[in-house]
Amino acid sequence: MRDFGLNKRCGCPRRLWTKGCSHNWHYAFMWKGQRYRDAVDNVMSRHVEGKSEALREVERIFAAVREGRFVIKPADPPTVRQLGEVYFDKYLSPKTGRPLGPNERYRWNVMMHTRVDGRPLGDYLASAVKSTAVRSLQQRIAVTH
Ligand SMILES: [Zn+2]
Repeated sequence: MRDFGLNKRCGCPRRLWTKGCSHNWHYAFMWKGQRYRDAVDNVMSRHVEGKSEALREVERIFAAVREGRFVIKPADPPTVRQLGEVYFDKYLSPKTGRPLGPNERYRWNVMMHTRVDGRPLGDYLASAVKSTAVRSLQQRIAVTH
């Protein structure tokens, strides 16, 4: 089966996703170089509870995108700041197996407020920033997802 990256973004342990946690399912897939992602509920305009039902709906969404019947707004490209939010939300240190601490967070926030050509770094699109730090962040997030 195709990998739709169906997951949740709530704080519940993953094992509860199919057992009792009623938070939204989120999908992500690529089509023609474009990334599509959203909450299944947003697209369906109703709450989709079960994983197999969510997967069925995502397959329908994907089929619609593929056939050009249904144009979903592709996800806006993330800013550096948004990338950081995902990073701090998802990333676990390989050393400790735990999320990053307040020191990393502090350093990141300082970096986000640093002005580059008159704009805070955090406001730039991640794709527009050539910094190695941001690149490595993107790669880490990609493997964490
Ligand atoms: Zn949950």
